[in-house]
Amino acid sequence: MNLKSLCVLGALFCGSVSLFADRTNGKLDVYWPDVEGGAATLIVTPSGESLLIDTGMPGGRDPGRIVKLAMETAKLTKIDFLVTSHMHIDHFGGAAEVAAQLPIGTVFDNGIPEEDPDGNKADRSWVHRIKPYREMKVGSRRVIQAGETLPLIAGGGVGRPPLTVRCIAAKQKVAASNHPPTKNPLCENANRKATDTSDNANSIVLLISYGSFQLFIAGDLTWNVEETLVCPENVVGPVDVMQVNHHGLDVSNNPLLVRGLAPTVAVMSNGTEKGCGAETFATLKGTATIQAIYQIHKNLRKDSENNTAAEYIANEEKQCSANSIQLAVEPDGKSYTMLIPAKGHKRTFKSR
Ligand SMILES: [Zn+2]
Repeated sequence: MNLKSLCVLGALFCGSVSLFADRTNGKLDVYWPDVEGGAATLIVTPSGESLLIDTGMPGGRDPGRIVKLAMETAKLTKIDFLVTSHMHIDHFGGAAEVAAQLPIGTVFDNGIPEEDPDGNKADRSWVHRIKPYREMKVGSRRVIQAGETLPLIAGGGVGRPPLTVRCIAAKQKVAASNHPPTKNPLCENANRKATDTSDNANSIVLLISYGSFQLFIAGDLTWNVEETLVCPENVVGPVDVMQVNHHGLDVSNNPLLVRGLAPTVAVMSNGTEKGCGAETFATLKGTATIQAIYQIHKNLRKDSENNTAAEYIANEEKQCSANSIQLAVEPDGKSYTMLIPAKGHKRTFKSR
């Protein structure tokens, strides 16, 4: 069923869609399309500038869903910025197909490696996998640095709170805090996992701020590097919404990070059988500040007890309608509404 036919079904649903269609409404809009266990997050600022973080897998499906959401729901005619968190195919794979359908301005990443980014030199397929990304036509390309702020032109817009997109970490380098960092007493209980030599550890970490509202997105950052964001000092500070790292896999989502960020809402880009790990789920459940956990997909593995309430799951069936999760931050940044439009779900939270 497409958006238009859903609109015919109910005024309530159309009401929530129109929240996102109007670019003069002063809201910061965030969309999580269903990319089946890959990652993609689309952000549209109150001034209409757009940022896409990761692009799911290649092969039509994921880029198709991203472009549909961008053009039909967010009413975009271009993507101003693309950030590729790291060089795994479920994060960069759809980029070239998106770029073929919607002009992309500046691409930020950690640079395109010549060989397999996980150090597997014997794997000759890397050259082919990266080719479309390397060759796609975009406005410009930049290697991002920890501490850098994305060059948004209009920010929040005239008379609105400041809007910034800051790179907190990249390639395992953490930026200096831009607020007084706080000593984190939880660090005494640090436990480490095996060193991650994959490119996940290099993931770009972004903090999107609009007034008092804060959104944290860190690709597939893994356990020991997650610790460096909050220990010995917490350089991120509390956030409102955390995109759960690495699809909710248990090699990520160190409780030190989750509790250090102390989010109100967690959003997980998981697949039917990927992510939403038992340990991660227990960490989210056990974090006192978290009021709601959203999942793109229901975890359909045997450990089905590791699922949030049905109302917070965008897609419950394996053969799904690719429902998205959305977020609209009010023009003053002081509150925000989480939506699953296809389900009529809507819940408003106060920014911290
Ligand atoms: Zn991934």
